[in-house]
Amino acid sequence: MTEPDALPSLWSHEPRVQLRFRAGVKVADIDADATPGFRGDKSDAPTLQAERNTRFAELQEMLYANSRAGDTRSLLLVLQGMDTAGKGGIVKHVVGGCNPQGVQYRSFGKPTAEELSHHYLWRVRKALPAAGHIGVFDRSHYEDVLIVRVHNLVPPGVWEPRYDEINAFERELVSAGTTIVKVAMFVSLDEQKKRLAERLERPDKYWKYNPGDIDERLKWPAYQQAYQAMLDRTSTDYAPWHIVPCNRKWYSRLAITELLIEALKGLNMSWPPPDFDVEAEKKRLAAV
Ligand code: AMP
Ligand code: MG
Repeated sequence: MTEPDALPSLWSHEPRVQLRFRAGVKVADIDADATPGFRGDKSDAPTLQAERNTRFAELQEMLYANSRAGDTRSLLLVLQGMDTAGKGGIVKHVVGGCNPQGVQYRSFGKPTAEELSHHYLWRVRKALPAAGHIGVFDRSHYEDVLIVRVHNLVPPGVWEPRYDEINAFERELVSAGTTIVKVAMFVSLDEQKKRLAERLERPDKYWKYNPGDIDERLKWPAYQQAYQAMLDRTSTDYAPWHIVPCNRKWYSRLAITELLIEALKGLNMSWPPPDFDVEAEKKRLAAV
């Protein structure tokens, strides 16, 4: 049997190293078709994805089990990307493979009237994962420096200080025991067009289509600028961004699965020891 924690040999480099945002990287230069660090191809994906989903689910269960024994740590996956980048697919095909008992999913859309009456981090704090849980943010507090900036929903004097504020917020979370995995998902404009077109062709996909998606496409240069500022200013040692090319869904799913596995392995967990005498319990059970 292979050692379960060995990086699958199809990866030449660990995704957390390979995909980590580095100062100087330009969003405009990101190749959304690329498959960085992966030596295999699409035909390798189904088997590998199934294997790694199993490994991820096992580690997730271990995180949950440890919380029952008092461990307060948690993990937060932050998914940011333009429409059609595949955030929903990550939730369904990657996170969906583990026990829902230990997962807290939250998508962030246009804020409600109540949410708008509070500080922008109010709704985010309420959605943070409890001890032992994996929180999944489908969009996040970063919308408050992305769509908000691009559409001038608040003046620059309001969004500008948010970068530092978000860094301080994430530092606080990390200090309290939450490992944050931030993933910026990049799809090219051409591929996005194909995916939007498919949504318009298929009745089972209409629900994913929003006429406003076209307006966002038109603002792609402004979004590139906003994504650049987000990466430049909020990729920290304690909560770095990872850049995931998403034109090939099979690749983005494999890569993000590895990012999650690597983050959970970093917690150096083992199964919690019993807080009872196993042999004595076996004897008691045999007797009844
Ligand atoms: P979707 O993820 O396709 O359901 O779309 C949700 C929409 O809500 C996207 O267009 C987001 O940009 C938008 N959204 C998310 N957060 C905010 C926010 N804080 N302010 C304004 N719009 C937001
Ligand atoms: Mg959408």
